[in-house]
Amino acid sequence: MSKANISRASGQPVEAVILKAGRDKPVRQRHPWIFSGAIQRLPATRANGEIVPIYSADGEWLAQGYLNRASQIQVRVLSWEPQPIDDAFWRQRLQNAIAGRQALATSEQTNAYRLINGESDYLPGLVVDRYSDYLVMQVGALGMEVRKVALAQQLLALTGCRGVVERSDLALRRQEGLAEATGLLVGGAPTGAVPIRECGFVYHVDLLTGQKSGFYTDQRENRRRVARYCAGQRVLNAFSYTGAFAIHALAAGATHVTNLDSSMEALTAGEANLCANGFDPDGNAQANVASIAGDVFTILRDWRAEQIEPFDLIILDPPKFAHSRGQVERALRGYKDINLLALQLLRPGGILATFSCSGLVSADLFQKVLFGAAVDAGRNVQILEWLHQGSDHPVAITFPEGEYLKGLLCRVL
Ligand code: SAH
Repeated sequence: MSKANISRASGQPVEAVILKAGRDKPVRQRHPWIFSGAIQRLPATRANGEIVPIYSADGEWLAQGYLNRASQIQVRVLSWEPQPIDDAFWRQRLQNAIAGRQALATSEQTNAYRLINGESDYLPGLVVDRYSDYLVMQVGALGMEVRKVALAQQLLALTGCRGVVERSDLALRRQEGLAEATGLLVGGAPTGAVPIRECGFVYHVDLLTGQKSGFYTDQRENRRRVARYCAGQRVLNAFSYTGAFAIHALAAGATHVTNLDSSMEALTAGEANLCANGFDPDGNAQANVASIAGDVFTILRDWRAEQIEPFDLIILDPPKFAHSRGQVERALRGYKDINLLALQLLRPGGILATFSCSGLVSADLFQKVLFGAAVDAGRNVQILEWLHQGSDHPVAITFPEGEYLKGLLCRVL
């Protein structure tokens, strides 16, 4: 540190982030987020998106990260070492993330998976999914926004993929003061839906218009686990999206599967996926799969009122209900509602596979919601398996916020 960079009044560097006294423990423990409340002083002249050093109140160098005054998270820590942040640094981080997916990458069965999982891969604000020969990037921090093209180019070189498409949705970026960004970033764009393989099945994924980045790879292992209970069963796949749970269930010997989703586009894509895997979605008398468009809350309630024949196995995989702390109470009521309805629509001895992808609802809290639903339904519920996001969505131990998908696989008596 040169003398010119030291403020004479405090002895602290001027162009650095200075933490408040007693607020340095999370940074020392390698949590990557620094909120405004922990900061005593921001650098005067460094631009948002730049990498800045972070010091404790008594002048000790702690880490470096990127600055964004417009965000609640004013600094995202990139490194706890005083190393240069150059091309070689970024390449190393990208390579580390890619190496973590080696077992998936070499499998003949699967060529769609999360390649980079943001903070948990020590690349805050950067999420990249691989779909066969294309990459889909989601940029959720200004520090990544200003580097995204360079990183996309490095990723193409490292993976040999054909193109990088950006799918940075608005909700994620509004908190960073960024506008929505969608489109081709580097390389070539796919012409139409991209065929991918997951666990040996084929899906067509629309990278530019599909939900999330096109396909829910986080449920890969859970689809296999649920499939083990599907032989000979009548299955309801609620919140089916493009039907991946249904294909696993049918392949495992389910006698009938009902896909239920509010999105016609998702159901139509789901029917194409069924055909691509040799199943008949035509709705004729022999077909063992049906697609129903509608609201899960309403339809399950109607079915309960009509006392329809109970299902043997129900999958509930709703979208994220809680996007902020203020939405958690309402989300819990939503989870309780659909789980209560599902319990009432299962035969004795039936199986419920129920999920929550709201990071703000912990696994413990989710289990309590199911407990409440079981008591209200008057059903005995046995937990057989606790389910989590797949291994390509790792959780850095210093960043518990990275855990979001949790599920309970239960027997309902
Ligand atoms: N289970 C799917 C992923 C589900 S994503 C898979 O394995 O790929 C959540 C899905 O819920 C989306 O397809 C969305 O269209 C649907 N959805 C959201 N709210 C809904 C509602 N109230 N009723 C029915 N479907 C809903």
